[in-house]
Amino acid sequence: MSELNQQQLTVLQQSLLKLRKELQELLENSSDGAQPVSLDEPIGRLSRMDAMQQQSMVQANRRTTQTRLTRIEAALRRHTNDEYGLCVECEEEIGYARLQAQPEAPFCIDCQSNKETRNA
Ligand SMILES: [Zn+2]
Repeated sequence: MSELNQQQLTVLQQSLLKLRKELQELLENSSDGAQPVSLDEPIGRLSRMDAMQQQSMVQANRRTTQTRLTRIEAALRRHTNDEYGLCVECEEEIGYARLQAQPEAPFCIDCQSNKETRNA
């Protein structure tokens, strides 16, 4: 159990549920844009390239959204298991301020910056 109080936990859970809904809607609304560009469309070469470029942007955004959604689902599971608010790496407190800014955050600031340094 983290040191977050019940009210803080509830606020963060609400944020997670709201975020999940928003991202799910985003994915639904962008699904048309991610369809493969049809080469039979009677559009010019340039506009086809535009369409393909825009499509790859839409797909990149969808991947980002999907990744975040996965983290939100995981955070909600941790919430259910009373593990929410603790770093999944070192089990230290993540901290309320950090969770308010990023309720799906799985790592404390130390572990997060360690990972970023390693990946850089
Ligand atoms: Zn940690």
